[in-house]
Amino acid sequence: LTGHFLQRAQASDLNAFLHIDPALSLAQAGAADARIKAGTAGPLTGIPIAHKDIFVTEGWRSTAGSKMLANYTSPFNATVVARFEQAGMVTVGKLNCDEFAMGSSNQNSAFGAVLNPWDKLAVPGGSSGGSAAAIAARLAPAATATDTGGSIRQPASFCGVTGIKPTYGRVSRFGMIAFASSLDQGGPMAKTAEDCAMLLNEMVGFDERDSTCLSPAQGNVREDFTRELDSPLAGLRIGVPKEYFGEGLASDVEQAVRAALDQFIKLGATLVDISLPKTALSIPVYYIIAPAEASSNLARFDGVRYGHRAAEYKDLSDMYKKSRAEGFGREVQRRIMVGTYVLCHGYYDAYYVKAQKIRRLIADDFQAALGNTCDVIMGPVAPTVAWDLGEKTDDPVAAYLADIFTLSTSLAGLPGMSIPCGFGQGEKNGKRPVGLQIIGNYFAEAKLLGIAHQYQ
Ligand code: GLN
Repeated sequence: LTGHFLQRAQASDLNAFLHIDPALSLAQAGAADARIKAGTAGPLTGIPIAHKDIFVTEGWRSTAGSKMLANYTSPFNATVVARFEQAGMVTVGKLNCDEFAMGSSNQNSAFGAVLNPWDKLAVPGGSSGGSAAAIAARLAPAATATDTGGSIRQPASFCGVTGIKPTYGRVSRFGMIAFASSLDQGGPMAKTAEDCAMLLNEMVGFDERDSTCLSPAQGNVREDFTRELDSPLAGLRIGVPKEYFGEGLASDVEQAVRAALDQFIKLGATLVDISLPKTALSIPVYYIIAPAEASSNLARFDGVRYGHRAAEYKDLSDMYKKSRAEGFGREVQRRIMVGTYVLCHGYYDAYYVKAQKIRRLIADDFQAALGNTCDVIMGPVAPTVAWDLGEKTDDPVAAYLADIFTLSTSLAGLPGMSIPCGFGQGEKNGKRPVGLQIIGNYFAEAKLLGIAHQYQ
């Protein structure tokens, strides 16, 4: 199995992988074989998995898609990586992504864009574009990904695969290279919800090395995420937010999403009109809070302890400046500047504190709907299908606006997933998939996966 996927990954021209090392993978596969023969295998033993390059992995390069970490190898494994290894999964490589997970099209990677396997003229989405493309092209049966404002759901949608962002704090961030710590959350990507459920079984759980990891006392206990896969959907109330179907939503995406909603009615669910009035504010709020946290997190890349160091410099301050100017790409530099600005004395209250207050109101919107009027919320993941490679690269705000349907879930810390629900019209070089987003209340991952499985 490992050999099969290694061969496919090595033959692929999608640029989904940044690092493949057959010797490392085959050694792990050998150990998995031994476990299977010894009768000590678990359900995932011997199954290949590829990791987004945001997760540090012992023995492999871990670049976060940045020139800053182009030659970095971590001396330890991210908790998520370690857990999958303990389960006997075989790492088949490291996956391309937007630099420090900043982006929605994978075009911000220092190592070049990933191609969408459905249409090689299209972006795969981002920031977990390598993960989504690898699953879609069957270069790996499972992948890790991270979602700060949509980076699991949107690439899953653009590449027609399944991905789930768990409740914030359920999956350890230890060893996940930080972008915006109050939003970053790891999750699995795979072909189906059933596969994602099995992967989540290994990923979720308390980790004392991540200070924001939810504790067992807060309800973060390991659970069997496959337990609701066969639950019927009769009586399920699906909230349909009017803000997710307004101006800006492409008609082909709307058609595919509405067809999926009709299918849920056939499966016994009812649709309830709801409103999430603060949806539009999620863009300015996210693009204040995320850069603020990023500017602080990325201060550690100073050319001293690890990462890129400029070859020539006059003094210490010059070394910092040159190393950071050379190591960080344009989008990362833009966000560091925005973030530093909104945290400045004098602007902090006007921007950062204000954004935090609106963040709470966005979370309140969801609580008013979930639990009272509906059990889950459904809508599009993104306003359009995947855009063309080269598009939106000179217009960062256009890319930010395309995050409209995923940001609020992240700001509220809620679980959300994307499942394939058809294709857009206007086929160019190939079909472009559409994703359906399913959002649930805190800790509702098993329910979301069950709903997705019934549809799939
Ligand atoms: N597209 C968003 C951004 O550029 C989200 C990225 C993410 O979730 N990592 O920040």
